Amino acid sequence: MASSSNSLMWFRKGIRIHDNPALEYAAKGANFLYPVFVIDPHYMEPDPSAFSPGSSRAGLNRIRFLLESLVDLDLNLKKLGSRLLVLHGEPGEVLIRCLEEWNVKKLCFEYDTDPYYQALDARVQNLASAAGIEVFSPVSHTLFNPADIIQKNGGSPPLSYQSFLKLAGEPSWACAPLSTTVSSLPPVGDTGRSDISDVPTIKDLGYEDMAKDDWTPFRGGETEALKRLEESMSNKDWVAKFEKPKGDPSAFLKPATTVLSPYLKFGCLSSRYFYQRIQEIYNNVEGHTSPPVSLVGQLLWREFFYTAAFGTPNFDRMKDNKICKQIPWNDDNELLAAWRDARTGFPWIDAIMVQLRKWGWMHHLARHCVACFLTRGDLFVHWEKGRDVFERLLIDSDWAINNANWLWLSCSSFFYQYNRVYSPITFGKKYDPNGDFIRHFLPVLKDMPKQYIYEPWTAPLSIQKKAKCIIGEDYPKPVVSHDIAIKECRKKMGEAYELNKRLKGLISEEDLENLK
Ligand code: FAD
Repeated sequence: MASSSNSLMWFRKGIRIHDNPALEYAAKGANFLYPVFVIDPHYMEPDPSAFSPGSSRAGLNRIRFLLESLVDLDLNLKKLGSRLLVLHGEPGEVLIRCLEEWNVKKLCFEYDTDPYYQALDARVQNLASAAGIEVFSPVSHTLFNPADIIQKNGGSPPLSYQSFLKLAGEPSWACAPLSTTVSSLPPVGDTGRSDISDVPTIKDLGYEDMAKDDWTPFRGGETEALKRLEESMSNKDWVAKFEKPKGDPSAFLKPATTVLSPYLKFGCLSSRYFYQRIQEIYNNVEGHTSPPVSLVGQLLWREFFYTAAFGTPNFDRMKDNKICKQIPWNDDNELLAAWRDARTGFPWIDAIMVQLRKWGWMHHLARHCVACFLTRGDLFVHWEKGRDVFERLLIDSDWAINNANWLWLSCSSFFYQYNRVYSPITFGKKYDPNGDFIRHFLPVLKDMPKQYIYEPWTAPLSIQKKAKCIIGEDYPKPVVSHDIAIKECRKKMGEAYELNKRLKGLISEEDLENLK
């Protein structure tokens, strides 16, 4: 065990073998390589006080997705002569003990911009460096290093997508082939520890198994990610013509977008590899769409929001966040609970919220609709409360992207046209006049005639009886009148914007310019 060239590869996100520069560097010249994942009880263990099954931080669907991703990683490591070492405890403490006990000389992990990892990594990095351990922490979760973009912009993040694009240009590695295959890895040394386990199951972590219908249909792991990517890339015409706002948010049998977000979130799929695969197609077709609507454009939204989030103190809240409008949102917990638990009485909104709870994934425009409804559209509830619900239930829940999109949808930052509201009645109807999406996720309404499916409270009692769904008994009445709520929300938004204008010094002239 006293080799002078032991490496430790610390997996957190980046749960993959392909395009994993930290893993490659860890393997280089190592006698023994220790691939480690630490199960943090706060993230993984049951919290009975939470509003849905899961830990205090994550819903059960996301925990299961992570466990599946770890099982897949372990299998892929085994194919290369290695295996995953799973430990339990506070990650910083566990890791520091491993470094000492295994005489590690090289510690490698993917750089992470989330505040949680920034604090944890600084602590681990300092201790490792003080002990003379080499630390290698490359940027490979994103296409660009947000810090580079911020530096190019004079120290502050660009606040519009277009200015981000101008600063970012083409990523430096774009034309170089990425490492997508590793043929073997150094063996795992003797750990000398009895607390190393296989990847636990949901039951091992103390959860009751859920009914099959309640699990997300999306399976975790690199193998599944690459399969999904191939499926999307095999339709070159679809990739070339991809135009985000044109997709159908109600398509659930075959979603209108890639559903690669959970794989990008956990790094089961490299965003750089994804980017290169799309570029390959662009290079071989006659024409293709461009950012912001193209598929590459979607990946660049991710980059833009990562950069904005990394460079903005208190990005995840309204208070002391200088790019966030100060709006007197209400704290109505009943309205929040009705929205969260799919009881608003608006079938389009409730069906999307059921999809969130069951699948942990919804189409982008569906997310728009429910976020707008909760905040500036109808209920005027604080965006941070909606963000928390998404953060828990999404399998792709991502600190930077989730906060950024809630800031956007609530017209608190990035987007300011608060008069443009998604109708909870007519928006979905445009795509799905028969209401198949609603019938699928809200079976209580499955027999409601199509002319009433988006507004079942307008159906005569005889029709409700025939559809076996009495409004107010089997399915709720609407929690607000949309026509009245929208007017009140617009008025409050107008007043808040006026007040913000007068709050001098809250935002610099330069940032204001960027926002236009
Ligand atoms: P595709 O359209 O196939 O796009 C490919 C990839 O581009 C996505 O996987 C994602 O990584 C990226 N992307 C696409 N749209 C966006 C966007 N608007 N912002 C940033 N990146 C984008 N996405 C998350 O990954 N995690 C979140 O926590 C999250 N929270 C959101 C909250 C709200 C209120 C809203 C409106 C959107 C949120 N999104 C989030 C963004 C977007 O809805 C999802 O990324 C997208 O729907 C995922 O589906 P897809 O993989 O099929 O996307």
